[in-house]
Amino acid sequence: MTEPPFLPFAQPDIGEEEIAEVVDSLRSGWITTGPKTRRFEADFADYLGGGLYAVAVNSATAGLHLALEAAGIRSGDEVITTPYTFTATAEVIRYLGADPVFVDIDPGTFNIDADKIEAAITDRTRAIIPVHFAGLPCEMDKILSIARNHDLHVIEDAAHSLPTKYQHKTIGTLESDISVFSFYATKTITTGEGGMVVTWNKEFAERMRVMRLHGISQDVFDRYSSTRPSWYYEVEAPGFKYNMTDISAAIGLHQLNKVDVFHTRRTWIAEQYNKAFSDLPIKLPSLASPDDQHAWHLYVIQLKQEKLSITRDEFISQMAQSGIGTSVHFIPLHLQPYWRDRYGYSPDDFPVSNKVYPTVVSLPIYPKMTDEDVARVINAVKTILTENSR
Ligand SMILES: *Cc1c(COP(=O)(O)O)cnc(C)c1O
Repeated sequence: MTEPPFLPFAQPDIGEEEIAEVVDSLRSGWITTGPKTRRFEADFADYLGGGLYAVAVNSATAGLHLALEAAGIRSGDEVITTPYTFTATAEVIRYLGADPVFVDIDPGTFNIDADKIEAAITDRTRAIIPVHFAGLPCEMDKILSIARNHDLHVIEDAAHSLPTKYQHKTIGTLESDISVFSFYATKTITTGEGGMVVTWNKEFAERMRVMRLHGISQDVFDRYSSTRPSWYYEVEAPGFKYNMTDISAAIGLHQLNKVDVFHTRRTWIAEQYNKAFSDLPIKLPSLASPDDQHAWHLYVIQLKQEKLSITRDEFISQMAQSGIGTSVHFIPLHLQPYWRDRYGYSPDDFPVSNKVYPTVVSLPIYPKMTDEDVARVINAVKTILTENSR
């Protein structure tokens, strides 16, 4: 019997529609920000229910930077976030000379522990960045109420959260100041690299539009379609180069059309895993409460170390030997050399993150997986854990 090919941890699902649309862009001559980026922004805002502003960028990292800049975060300010995230969430705070203040996570959801936020607020605190880990929403009512009481901005890192719902509302439409989605290759929809920033606030949207393209008051597409001479532009600020290209937007337009189909498939895979793994020595990921919706960007299991004779790292190598890619989300930021050394952290400063990290494994969960792929993952997990339980 021939071995099936290696099953990667993540893979984008790109169809012929995306390919044809990219070819159309290449032939049209509009390869940078142009009509397709505009359409993608409009479609994205419509998908969220309409009425808000959507600004397309070349990554969620860029979007988070623009969001903090628009919110007026400056050198010396503090921004509260979670250590249990990708470094992008916190690095953008440093771009502006401000400091992240980490608040440990809830051991069940791996989201920021909303009950510990208030104790971390100082007179330098200006904003909170919640991260909806794996696509499970944070306790946004508590976070938004703390922010209101202390006059703080809320910028949601929604990189995992398309489509997440909190109390029947789609993430991106809550009363937070700004939310930022990622279209990185592994995320729930992709444009290769890309992101979308959404806000109800017109001034924030205008500032982010200007700052995403060199601080220029009109983008190239506007300049070419306006009555002013096409060579003329005005620089309002030292902006950035964060605009999305039409080549990326061409992919995004069709990925967005499939977002609900993709989500249904991810949810189905999560359900198969939940059923198959219920008797194993692992803790299954938290489910969304009935009023919420999990995006299932990640499916993260926790090994019950006391019931197993292998470590997490050994489990990962045995999965690889069985032909299955896995990953770890996340290496807590306070353990990373830069963050650890800059702020003098020790592992136990964030005990929950520190305890969870050595036990977690992310399993493949993406729409391109066939039913056979899902069965293979289930068999491998069951076999390895059964052979190594005690
Ligand atoms: C992927 C990710 C980002 C960064 O997204 P990019 O589009 O790659 O810049 C930010 N935050 C979290 C939590 C992520 O997982």
